[in-house]
Amino acid sequence: MRPFIFSKSSALSQALSKKNNTTQFIAGGTNLVDLMKKNIAQPESLVDITTVLPDKITTNTKSIQIGAMVRNTAITNNATVKAKYPLLAKAILAGASPQIRNMASTGGNLLQRTRCPYFYDITTPCNKRKPGTGCSAMQGQNRMNAIVGYSDQCVAVHPSDMCVALAALDATVTLTTKNNKQENIAFTNFHRLPENLPERDNNLPANALIHSISINENPFNKNYAYVKLRDRDSYAFALVSVAAALQLSGNTIVQARLASGGVAHKPWRWTEAEQYLKGKAATATTFSEAATMITKGLKPLSHNGFKVPLLHGAVETALQNCLVASQ
Ligand SMILES: Cc1cc2nc3c(=O)[nH]c(=O)nc-3n(C[C@H](O)[C@H](O)[C@H](O)COP(=O)(O)OP(=O)(O)OC[C@H]3O[C@@H](n4cnc5c(N)ncnc54)[C@H](O)[C@@H]3O)c2cc1C
Ligand code: SF4
Repeated sequence: MRPFIFSKSSALSQALSKKNNTTQFIAGGTNLVDLMKKNIAQPESLVDITTVLPDKITTNTKSIQIGAMVRNTAITNNATVKAKYPLLAKAILAGASPQIRNMASTGGNLLQRTRCPYFYDITTPCNKRKPGTGCSAMQGQNRMNAIVGYSDQCVAVHPSDMCVALAALDATVTLTTKNNKQENIAFTNFHRLPENLPERDNNLPANALIHSISINENPFNKNYAYVKLRDRDSYAFALVSVAAALQLSGNTIVQARLASGGVAHKPWRWTEAEQYLKGKAATATTFSEAATMITKGLKPLSHNGFKVPLLHGAVETALQNCLVASQ
């Protein structure tokens, strides 16, 4: 690990003023420290942001705001989250381990880097780690990689579980920029596709911090499910995951939300299938048709064709589990 200067900031404006190309912020450290140990991230200085960002969850009649420093465990234990946004808690609990969730912050979860094996192996070419060197995964071991939305520059996937639920629930990310102004960005626009800039995972401006996340009240607290399929039953990233939520009137679907992890460079919303489900009866046949709609246009790589039927089954199971959740 390269030596670095560590400093703590006493105010948000002070932390932001310290940010430059050789500085990185550190929150829970559960991803960044690993990247530093492997010489993938080599900041000259680290700015501890744990005391300058909100670590509280606040609610009003219309929405919930989760501070960027709220630890993942605190979200899952929050009474309002459990009652009104249980899909978020369910997705978080599917990730990592209790110890990591105790440390992992809300902001850090959004900004965790991909788990593509070549990104972590500094002896191999990787456009995301070192732009212009090539993508080893494209022709290499790509069973964990993308099946949709990738480019010839990068086929990595975003590894978060929490972010899949935030995409499904149409969350908003609030940023604080260098001049101490706040800006909102729709969660589904926060992460980006690799296109020809694979080194950029998201649309966070260079001199900005994530301040908080908000979610508007919604009717998805009864019929929801998070299905995560992975190599091991715990402590493993998703091969595919599905966050599903239904608003039902009797057996009729009024609205649906469907998002996936493990399939693309960003948490992926299946909006066409959501539209298809609207007004339909909540039956196994309808769910299977939605799953077929989702999987028909996918373009798996040489080693991850298995993800397509896996995703089909995960969508069906998640939608079916939405009905179980209401009982
Ligand atoms: C063994 C292991 C297993 C895991 N399994 C899963 C899993 O199954 N599912 C899952 O979703 N996750 C999993 N994770 C990832 C874990 O959730 C993330 O490491 C964690 O959420 C990152 O949060 P952090 O606060 O520790 O971030 P840090 O490591 O402190 O920071 C990560 C990045 O975010 C930046 N940053 C942090 N906060 C802010 C902010 N507010 N504004 C601007 N920049 C910021 C930092 O500069 C850094 O670049 C796993 C991690 C490990 C180590
Ligand atoms: S998929 Fe992306 S992260 Fe993986 S090797 Fe290719 S460029 Fe690097």
